[in-house]
Amino acid sequence: MDYGQTKPARSGPERLRAVCGRIKNLIEAEGTPALAFLDTYGCQQNEADSDILRGLIGEMGYSFTDDENKADLIVINTCAVREHAQMRILGNVGALTHAKKQNPRLIVALCGCMVRQEHMIEKVKRSYRVVDIVFGMHEMSKFPELLEQFLLTGKRIFARSPEEGEIEENLPVLREGKIKARIPVMYGCNNFCSYCVVPFVRGRERSRDAALITDEARSLVENGCKDIMLLGQNVNSYGLDRGAGTDFSDLIAGINEIPGEFLIRFMTSHPKDATEKLFSVMAASEKCARHIHLPVQSGNDRVLRAMNRGYTGEEYADLAEKARRLMPDLVLTTDVIVGFPGETDREFEDTLELVKKVEFDAMFTFIFSKREGTPAACMDDPVTRSEKQARFDRLLEVQNVISEKKHAACIGKTVKVLIDGETKNSEYNLSSRTNGGRLVHLRGNLAPGGFVNAEITGAATWALFGEVSRR
Ligand code: SAM
Ligand code: SF4
Repeated sequence: MDYGQTKPARSGPERLRAVCGRIKNLIEAEGTPALAFLDTYGCQQNEADSDILRGLIGEMGYSFTDDENKADLIVINTCAVREHAQMRILGNVGALTHAKKQNPRLIVALCGCMVRQEHMIEKVKRSYRVVDIVFGMHEMSKFPELLEQFLLTGKRIFARSPEEGEIEENLPVLREGKIKARIPVMYGCNNFCSYCVVPFVRGRERSRDAALITDEARSLVENGCKDIMLLGQNVNSYGLDRGAGTDFSDLIAGINEIPGEFLIRFMTSHPKDATEKLFSVMAASEKCARHIHLPVQSGNDRVLRAMNRGYTGEEYADLAEKARRLMPDLVLTTDVIVGFPGETDREFEDTLELVKKVEFDAMFTFIFSKREGTPAACMDDPVTRSEKQARFDRLLEVQNVISEKKHAACIGKTVKVLIDGETKNSEYNLSSRTNGGRLVHLRGNLAPGGFVNAEITGAATWALFGEVSRR
């Protein structure tokens, strides 16, 4: 089945339940339990989509396995942001040919951003015959129908609807743990940064209803959730498409009113839309984590213009200062792209300068990856890969010194952390996060899920070490 250019009919909750029920019956009729393996690549948004995929897979009667060799259904939720991720995904998909020979009833489904790109769909069609079902995130709720179709016909399915359509609420959600949860507040992106494929694969901005988001947060907190991550590609433009008068700050303020001890986090904020109101509301909301991820991408104004980011280096630095003035304990993290087409040594130096000036707590660094169909893919890119790598290494060195310094300053302090898991490390048996999101490897005799005070006894570039405080 190929939807071609026609928009598939949206399935209502009843229709979805009926399809899932029929698949469940088919599976039960086989007499042996069916196992599913779900593999997720890329960003937090993909992880949130996978919470829904997991819900749908569970409704269809599958149990989950961590071992893909035991699976009867493999679902791979893909990423398209960088070439490297795509190559890794395709490598792993190719390797499934063997698994399919071992288990002829194995079904392989490929979904998400990578397969929203026409050239990738063609590639999978031609060269990855092991894949049975392909669908983008716009067709996520159709997955059970597509699977049923495949079970009945045995014919490969490439589903693609040209438009994003309305947000579908009331889909089943199955999260992996109870302590932390992601809540998407909006989908898509209108920004068209010149290097980025996201607006092409995820469509235009669509915000969810504020009351539904708040109800979801309330129900999570009532069920023991301690850490809620509000998600969107640019949360600062939340609500603009609805014209409902509720902006992202209002949403935070509303969730902050929910009774209980928990933290509100969010990502990602676009600097061009981050306002003083947002920082003031964060500062006034005791449950809002003192962390903001504010991707700067470059410190050079020409490069920022070519990236279509909508701010200058100086404007960014001012914004960071404003945020820190209102929240002196703020943890500020960022993303930087090194080697954007045409970036000169001199322009790269501006990035280093800005990084030294702003002193981020942590940074995610990427070497520019050419994405087909984006404006940057057509720009002159004379700098060699090894020169870009050298810039990348220099940037990392500069940031590591800053991160180490900031972490070293935490030694001797007592900080409140949320214990979010157990580790296999015999010395530091617990993993935890500070309010600002710093990772603390913790020693103590407590179960995950609670807030405790931790004495910080050691520090490294990426993490702190500590023990549960007796005081
Ligand atoms: N919406 C978020 C924002 O604007 O900050 C980020 C979304 S993107 C999935 C995450 C990061 O990937 C970006 O901040 C950028 O640093 C990086 N990225 C996106 N496209 C890239 C490309 N073509 N090459 C290298 N890095 C890229
Ligand atoms: Fe991509 Fe820019 Fe949108 Fe972020 S804001 S998803 S980098 S286009």
